Amino acid sequence: MKITGSLLKMKSEISQPIKYYLPIGSESVEMNSLINKPVRFTFENQIFCTNCGSKTYKSFNQGLCYPCFQSSPSASECIIHPEKCQAHLGIGRDMEWEKKYHLTPQIVYLALTANAKVGITRKPQIPTRWIDQGAVQTIILAETPNRYLAGVIEVTLKDFIADKTHWQKMLKNEINTSVDLIALKEEMKSFLPSELKQYVVNDSQLLDLNYPVLEYPKKVKSMSFDKLSVVEGTLTGIKGQYLMFDYLNVLNIRKHQGYVVSIEY
Ligand SMILES: [Zn+2]
Ligand SMILES: [Zn+2]
Repeated sequence: MKITGSLLKMKSEISQPIKYYLPIGSESVEMNSLINKPVRFTFENQIFCTNCGSKTYKSFNQGLCYPCFQSSPSASECIIHPEKCQAHLGIGRDMEWEKKYHLTPQIVYLALTANAKVGITRKPQIPTRWIDQGAVQTIILAETPNRYLAGVIEVTLKDFIADKTHWQKMLKNEINTSVDLIALKEEMKSFLPSELKQYVVNDSQLLDLNYPVLEYPKKVKSMSFDKLSVVEGTLTGIKGQYLMFDYLNVLNIRKHQGYVVSIEY
């Protein structure tokens, strides 16, 4: 089978283990059934912006052309620094967009990706965001009515907990198993000033996520279509937005959104 088209990040579905689908052009390839089989990706030397569809020689911010990167609200400062979101004050690159995405319920969560980290996402992005990050266990810490407040909570907690995923450890499944997310949530709650405590969600339900991986790699080597035109091997696992080949090579699908590739299997 050979399919050619523009890549988008993988879609996922909670299951034991998680199910992954890779959108290529108008097709959606069910990836779990390709595990333990040879798969080849060939870059067709074209990149199309995932926002406006125009051809671009380089991808910015995981799939945008340069003009969109400069103007798109999805690349504005409050994406990287939620605490700088000013939508609640009526200020933003595109207020219609802000109303839809940043003036809606936001979740502050704790996730175990390697060590524990804090993160923020829009409520409808749960559990997609967690799966995209390769978290093995998560708990909801707080729910806020807008992105700004979620950002203030996150910034308050940054002194006590990481906010970044260590992607290599995540892929090697080097998990700090001593972390107790329920206890950690209580601890993080104690660091919040009273005006932020009101947003803490009392329900302390843990979510465990299992990924379709034959065996985790001992070391990882990142592959990119910016350097290679062919990435191939036996597909040995999928975690986060990464495909693993031959227990070593990894391909970050999200980083290649908009790239035109062929998949053969
Ligand atoms: Zn564009
Ligand atoms: Zn915003």
